[in-house]
Amino acid sequence: MGKPERSAGDGPRNGRAHRGDDMRRLNTAAVMKHVFSHPGLSRSEIAAELGLSAASVTNITSTLLEAGLLRALPSPVGAQGRPRVPLEIDTQSSLVLGIHLGPRTSGVVLMSLDGREQASVLVPHAGKDPGESIDLVVAAAQRLMAEDATGRQLLGTGIATGGIVDRPAAVIIDNPGAGWRDVHVMDLLGGRLPCPVIVENNARAAAQSELLYGSGQRTNDFVLMVITADIGSVMVADGRIRAGFSQTAGQIAHLRVSDRAVRCSCGKTGCLMVMGSDDAVAVEAVRRGLGQVENIDHVLELALEGNELAIAVLEQRNRYVARAASQLIDIHDPELLVVAGTPAETPAVFASLVAEVARTAHGGAGAAGRVVLSSDHIFSLSLFAASTMVDAVLADPLAHAHSEGPSGL
Ligand SMILES: [Zn+2]
Repeated sequence: MGKPERSAGDGPRNGRAHRGDDMRRLNTAAVMKHVFSHPGLSRSEIAAELGLSAASVTNITSTLLEAGLLRALPSPVGAQGRPRVPLEIDTQSSLVLGIHLGPRTSGVVLMSLDGREQASVLVPHAGKDPGESIDLVVAAAQRLMAEDATGRQLLGTGIATGGIVDRPAAVIIDNPGAGWRDVHVMDLLGGRLPCPVIVENNARAAAQSELLYGSGQRTNDFVLMVITADIGSVMVADGRIRAGFSQTAGQIAHLRVSDRAVRCSCGKTGCLMVMGSDDAVAVEAVRRGLGQVENIDHVLELALEGNELAIAVLEQRNRYVARAASQLIDIHDPELLVVAGTPAETPAVFASLVAEVARTAHGGAGAAGRVVLSSDHIFSLSLFAASTMVDAVLADPLAHAHSEGPSGL
């Protein structure tokens, strides 16, 4: 099954109702997105596939080439007649900055538009307030840009953090892990990072990355479950990420997935948070006699070495995750249910998750057949943060590029 070329509302338009500059902006975005998802096409192929005139595509691609957003690949050797020039996204001239604001440590990354990390740094700030923490992150980002982004243009900054985030207002409403409330990120940044700036929730940033670099290449209709120390889900419908009326859609941490009397911070027992999170895995491993297990990484290592008890603990965790997955599939009926996070690091025990979905979903085996592990290349919250800015660039490329083309900082 093919991914639709575009969703309604962001494709090329030739309607007379649109002013010329609006139409050109939409067509520019359509060309940029098409090259992003189909690298190596020539101008005439792009024109044919998008239903645009060759002259219009030539005009748009020239602007995008000059802006450092596209680049031309060498023409195939031996081609006859007019050379066919394949185009792709420029991964050299342009970068985005990505920041994961963590509770104790933040990650800063410079990423090219193909989703690859170019340079990164970790910034510890345990015990500091939001203002001090952001000052340390900004200083580290500025050093990183000075050292690793010389001669390249920064198209903007994507920031992601845990808890409830009001993206349109760029406010961290409540990040319980960090103890941050009502943090007005723009005020604290004071224009010190490349603009524009997007502030997003971790799980939605992960969904954006999955959409651009993972399962989104197969379908733009999926539910993503993020299972780490934190737990959340995001619905992606027709390529759009739904945040919810109060920016809190996708809360699955307190779905009841077990009758065991394991108490959760919310006051109930058997929540996915206390049965299926990374910390829950470590606690369960100790309870079942796996010895001195400090965190999930240790359990994952033991499982990879073939330790049967470690494998059993991870299989049980997958069953808890599956019970929540079953409910998500029954409610949303997505084409795919994508599982990201630590379960994706042990594909050997994935069968336990699928089997439990088959057993517990109303949709049975049909539902289980739609469960996949994340196909995003790497689980990195700072890369996910950066991907939110890539999405903005694809939606309006020239608004993000410097008019004079690539330049140093
Ligand atoms: Zn709970």
